[in-house]
Amino acid sequence: MSNSSINRRNFLRVGAVAAAGLASGAAKASSSVTPTGSSAKPVIKRILGKTGIEVPVVSMGVMRADNPNILKAAYKIGITHFDTAHGYQDGRNEEMVGEFFKDKPRDSIVVATKIHPPRGGISAAKFTDMIDHSLERLKMDHVDILYLHAVDDLDYLFDERYLEALKEAKESGKTKFVGFSTHRNMAQLINAAVERPFYDVVLTSFNFRHAEDEALNDALKGAHESGMGIIGMKNMAGGWLDEDKTKAVNGKAALKWALNHPYIHTCIPGIVSYEQLMENWSVASDVSLTPDEAQSLEMASANTGMFCKGCDGCRDQCPRGLPVSDLMRSYMYNYAYSYPAKAQATVASLGVTDDPCMGCPKCTVQCSAGFDVRTRITDIARIQNVPGNFLV
Ligand code: SF4
Ligand code: SF4
Repeated sequence: MSNSSINRRNFLRVGAVAAAGLASGAAKASSSVTPTGSSAKPVIKRILGKTGIEVPVVSMGVMRADNPNILKAAYKIGITHFDTAHGYQDGRNEEMVGEFFKDKPRDSIVVATKIHPPRGGISAAKFTDMIDHSLERLKMDHVDILYLHAVDDLDYLFDERYLEALKEAKESGKTKFVGFSTHRNMAQLINAAVERPFYDVVLTSFNFRHAEDEALNDALKGAHESGMGIIGMKNMAGGWLDEDKTKAVNGKAALKWALNHPYIHTCIPGIVSYEQLMENWSVASDVSLTPDEAQSLEMASANTGMFCKGCDGCRDQCPRGLPVSDLMRSYMYNYAYSYPAKAQATVASLGVTDDPCMGCPKCTVQCSAGFDVRTRITDIARIQNVPGNFLV
């Protein structure tokens, strides 16, 4: 179904489904915490499936944060779950998290990190070295959730080398739980993870642009019923609808939309400023969409925007085998997130040239989001030529 066919009924429907899910214990809410500041309503907390971990519905994606004072404010306000990764900011992100939390009670926080093996793959022992390196940076003897990072196909999801390393990490206490993160081909991967129990948690891309993705919604339902913890990311669908940043996504509405889904236990919006922190946290005690908020998301959905849904519809469409979805995500990092260093690192990891569409007589890729993929690929692939010290 096209974006433009998403209607008010679709946006409001999720609220009713959420209510039913919560009533059946799908994602238990508790009213045990009073939020700091914005509202007298209690913070909504949910349980991450069979892990038993209880967290506020609003958590923090630390990826782009480079100011420990934001972490400090988030911790003080009541956020307890912090998500980083081995590769973020070349390791400085984990170091910042470790430095800030080194003297805080370990049981007051839930720390998650993600590890992506280098292109070409590595042995279980090398993967374990990466885990140890992350723990060293984090100044912790364990994390709460250790993810295999950015999984996009079944071979990677069940690569025996990484399963061995993750299993060993769990058994030796380096992590309490293991999971995988995904922003492409999510439905297939989540279904597979349910069928072959190994992962405790999935961190998945999920936002209002997935409203009509029945396969993903069904997969999430199945994952929830299996007891998997489910965490949403990319909740703002890029945050901006245009490269010039004249049209913003209503972030509060987008976060509410994701959290209205009964099988999303918490979300990790990226937070880089106090304004974002306060806006996101205001959702923690009230996830109900107002009619105006629902309408703002309808309007955003009707715009092509910059968010690649990860639907995998473009797979195998390019005769040169270009990783179209990953390139579209890189485009989003650069133009929507204003994070060119991440865009460059992502493009560089794909092994494409700086002009991969050059000489191709006709683009055969039909993107379900309506992207002109050739134009965007040609634009973003050039970022490899920019010296890294010019990028942030
Ligand atoms: S224009 Fe680029 S993306 Fe499109 S088919 Fe050709 S090489 Fe592939
Ligand atoms: S078809 Fe478009 S939206 Fe879907 S994965 Fe490919 S680039 Fe992303």
